[in-house]
Amino acid sequence: MRFADLAEALERIEATTKRLEMRAILVSLLRPLRGSELSTVVYLAQGMLRPEYEGVELGVAESLARRAISDATHRPVEAIARHAKESGDLGTTTEEMLRGVRRLAPPAELSVEEVYGRLLALARTTGEGSQEAKVRELAALLERTGPREGKFLVRFVVGMLRVGVREMGILDALAVAFADGSKEARLRIEAAFNLTSDLGEVAERMADGGVAALDGIRLRVGRPIRPMLAERAADLAELLERMDGVCALEYKYDGLRVQAHVPPDGPPRLFSRRLEEIGAQFPDLLEAIPRALARRPAILEGECVPIDPTTGAIRPFQEIGRRRGRKHELDRYQSEVPVVLFVFDLLLDGEEETYRRPFPERREALGSVLRPSERIRLAEETIVRSVEEASEYFEAVVGEGAEGIVAKSLAPGSAYRAGARGFWWIKYKRDYQTELADSIDGVIVGGFHGRGRRAGRFGAYLLAVYDPSSGRFPSFCKVGSGLDDALLAELPKRLEAAAVDARPAAVETGLVPDQWFRPQVVLEVRGAELSRSPNHRAGYGSVGPELGLALRFPRCTGRIREDKGPTEATSVAELLRLFELQTSVRSKSVGHHAVGAPKSPPAPSEDPPA
Ligand code: AMP
Repeated sequence: MRFADLAEALERIEATTKRLEMRAILVSLLRPLRGSELSTVVYLAQGMLRPEYEGVELGVAESLARRAISDATHRPVEAIARHAKESGDLGTTTEEMLRGVRRLAPPAELSVEEVYGRLLALARTTGEGSQEAKVRELAALLERTGPREGKFLVRFVVGMLRVGVREMGILDALAVAFADGSKEARLRIEAAFNLTSDLGEVAERMADGGVAALDGIRLRVGRPIRPMLAERAADLAELLERMDGVCALEYKYDGLRVQAHVPPDGPPRLFSRRLEEIGAQFPDLLEAIPRALARRPAILEGECVPIDPTTGAIRPFQEIGRRRGRKHELDRYQSEVPVVLFVFDLLLDGEEETYRRPFPERREALGSVLRPSERIRLAEETIVRSVEEASEYFEAVVGEGAEGIVAKSLAPGSAYRAGARGFWWIKYKRDYQTELADSIDGVIVGGFHGRGRRAGRFGAYLLAVYDPSSGRFPSFCKVGSGLDDALLAELPKRLEAAAVDARPAAVETGLVPDQWFRPQVVLEVRGAELSRSPNHRAGYGSVGPELGLALRFPRCTGRIREDKGPTEATSVAELLRLFELQTSVRSKSVGHHAVGAPKSPPAPSEDPPA
């Protein structure tokens, strides 16, 4: 396929807001393709080179891209920067600039595969001189493209295409291109994606054998599975009702979710909740996990928490962060901040794919395969049959300092549901009576200049949630509270590469920050309650005419969610559910299982209302 055909299809997709039309364009793009050409187009359409978990990033900053555009179009860098500031999109600027270029001969046509190969090579260029090499390579490619292809090429390399075609859009298209387009087919495709985390592979299989070919998918050690997620309940009575009166309650450890892939021999590989490989940070776990297993291969899941080396007590989650990115200091951190992995699930046990089995059977298998050690332990659990029993357990673990519990269904249908948030697992946290039931993971999309003590840096940030159906990031709060000096200094560094001159198209808000950011960095916030606001766009229209949801008295918990990418941030649907829970909790009197601290008024925000 010519790269020009892909660019043309992407442009048509961009021009429509209609889901069906978008799907039709994708279907005709994908249907004729097979094998690696198909997976290549699937990745590129999403602005990726490889499945996300492989972590292949092009890593070209806008400033470098501007230089490449300048080289290819013979226009000064300043002119390009000025134009981009106005257009708000370096891709559009590239298109304009390339239109003005007179060439002696029309450029030779680029194929999708050639562009792909070169971009992959670009992504793998690292080390000294790599930036220069990237500029040269990109300029060479741009010299061979027409304006439209140039636009998309630049968007690929600066990482702005993520919101172009979303996973959901590709799944929809695959269901029509290679199956009967039914809801059932769509669900099976999504389940296959959640198991493989690789839309390219799903597409290739379907092109060969339709939906039936997806049944042949097997778990593969080293290829992460999208984690199963938990729903929320308003109170323990609702929780138990949802579980049909009986369930397992587990201690909710507040740490880092870890999926451990243990091959038949050799070291395990560890993946975070967003499927990033994190083993390098935890050499102690890499060593301890295989020793704690009676059999392998295996895929397990657990929560990794820091513990106090002298008392053995669980320490605050933030301390794990100290292990990040400091390879040479790891030894010291291993003794200063040792970690324990509390294992709570078993997805693969030897040759058997245990994830298909109901939870009680998985837990039993886990008990038989795991030989708990100092570093690797079994998550604490108890079976409850009444609100009183549940309440007793809950208060006991909260008394020990847990942030809450995770309830797990024991029903025959309680298989591990990769990537799904459902009532098979329900989380319930201690502070739902005193404030909003849960923390919210918001994506930073803007910054506001600070005043007074915070002059000269950002004093508050604009946060958004994610809407997977539209791929957009509607805002829900402006947070300044809870940002300590360390965070105020750290955030601008993290955000440097995300700074853009104009509001990114995917961001929706009624506010205008001093600096816009591409959705990239996720921050955890808490707040008093959700209210309706004309300034914010989360749940816009669902909670009242021209009103969205806003978090009142937001404060940052101090935690950058490095384990979450923008699309793992709290979703609009979750925010609406929290809004609904808050209303249902309010309308009840405080029940017999009231928990946590007495209700106190929320601390006033340091920031003037938005
Ligand atoms: P949240 O991150 O607040 O949505 O809560 C769900 C998370 O709780 C999971 O993704 C796990 O990382 C974590 N967690 C802690 N303890 C458990 C447990 N016993 N079972 C399942 N998840 C747990």
